Amino acid sequence: MTGLAVPASLRARAVEPGDRRWEALRSTYTTAHDPALVLLPRTSEEVADALVFAGGSGLPVSVRSGGHGLHGRSSNDGGIVVDLSVMDAIEVLDRDAGLVRLQAGARWGRVAERLARDGLAISSGDHGNVGVGGLATAGGIGWLTRTYGLTVDHVRAATVVLPDGRVVRTDPEHEPDLLWAVRGAGDSVGIVTDLDIEAMPLGLVGIGQVAVAADADVLLRWSQHLQGAPRDLTVNGLLSGSSGGAVLQMTAVVASDEPDRVRELLEPLGDLGGRVLGMQAQLAPYTALVSSEHAHANYGQQPAITTNLLLPTLTSDSAQVLLSVATHPARPFVQVRSLGGATHDVAPEESAFPHRSQNALTTLTVFPPQTGSELDEVAAPLRPFGTGAYRNFESRPDERTFWAAYPGATGERVLELRRRYDPEGVLRRLDAPSQPVRGDGQVVGSTPNQSSLNAMLS
Ligand SMILES: Cc1cc2nc3c(=O)[nH]c(=O)nc-3n(C[C@H](O)[C@H](O)[C@H](O)COP(=O)(O)OP(=O)(O)OC[C@H]3O[C@@H](n4cnc5c(N)ncnc54)[C@H](O)[C@@H]3O)c2cc1C
Repeated sequence: MTGLAVPASLRARAVEPGDRRWEALRSTYTTAHDPALVLLPRTSEEVADALVFAGGSGLPVSVRSGGHGLHGRSSNDGGIVVDLSVMDAIEVLDRDAGLVRLQAGARWGRVAERLARDGLAISSGDHGNVGVGGLATAGGIGWLTRTYGLTVDHVRAATVVLPDGRVVRTDPEHEPDLLWAVRGAGDSVGIVTDLDIEAMPLGLVGIGQVAVAADADVLLRWSQHLQGAPRDLTVNGLLSGSSGGAVLQMTAVVASDEPDRVRELLEPLGDLGGRVLGMQAQLAPYTALVSSEHAHANYGQQPAITTNLLLPTLTSDSAQVLLSVATHPARPFVQVRSLGGATHDVAPEESAFPHRSQNALTTLTVFPPQTGSELDEVAAPLRPFGTGAYRNFESRPDERTFWAAYPGATGERVLELRRRYDPEGVLRRLDAPSQPVRGDGQVVGSTPNQSSLNAMLS
């Protein structure tokens, strides 16, 4: 028993240590935790009760939808977790307009499966077990990004539970500041319980796998090619290597079920100048990429430390540095995802995701026993070429990453909205960002500067 006075409306929704569901609820994908209590609300009103109760407790408060956050802050130690996993409805509101309503606890694999029945799709991310709530309130860089844009670009309305317990509906005519925040910085203002999102019509897609030997010239040509490519092509690359050489493994998605169109867009990827090591293509449903078969429980099974930067089109200098990062003896896991296309259609000030000129997102990951300091050392030569960051591919949400994700006026507005909607800082109460932990429970990664963090959060 926790000794917490859980209100009557939530007693049946409270899960404490000792409950048979505890092991499946206490942790996240990347971190293992021991909160005091997990609350499983079923409605926005129950979420409001949960948030007011958690706020009044003075304990750390975490919000969890799918539990896939890379920083592990969707759980905590000794505090309260508001877990939305039972709020997972997926509803097609208007088939012709493509308007769908998703509750935050739904997983993207199930969303893809349900929408496919109506010939619709939302570009979300690359994993079917990621939750709607964490992704659709921060960005959403997926397999159809250059065709569709980011997930947040298509959020038309949302229900937000504010820390004071109000349940607010936001759309362009009602509480527009809230909608602005939900589209990139949703966790700054409240708990988003559902989102109305415009899906795109989609049948089969072309999926190509192309692997080429990569040097800096190949990377440069690849980047230049993607910058000018038609927007029905999105390519994510995995760059791996050693001192012996690098390999670029591309997964290319063509938003077309026409074999000729798929061939036309895939073939140039084998013509970048590097030796082709493998090439195959198929037509498949979008659900083959974002599958409900990815579903699994999260129990801290994947400790990892990730950072990222957004890059304009590569230059010969940045291509050379990217190559040396990928072949660094620390062997980071390096991914390069294409942006551009539809992501550039939205003005920077329109949402809390302001990065609208970059053409690539690079993520760098290391795994324990490697540390955050080692990752920083690997990433350092690439940082000068970065012009921003995506907060959802960041394990350590410190001050540097806040201002990289929300530069200038965007960051000022996010902080202003935090002060307006969460003046007590209920959603920012976690003492310090959780650090990835090893299997033995030992914390890895560098400790952020607490005083600068406090300054940002105040
Ligand atoms: C294996 C893997 C693959 C990924 N692939 C992609 C990808 O391809 N593209 C991409 O864009 N991202 C990707 N991500 C990152 C992903 O977008 C984030 O990790 C996201 O936060 C996960 O959402 P979640 O609901 O599962 O997270 P949770 O762990 O439940 O939440 C993470 C954080 O989001 C906030 N949050 C969650 N729910 C809500 C809510 N309802 N209201 C307000 N705030 C909320 C909270 O701050 C919380 O701490 C990937 C992550 C993993 C682990």
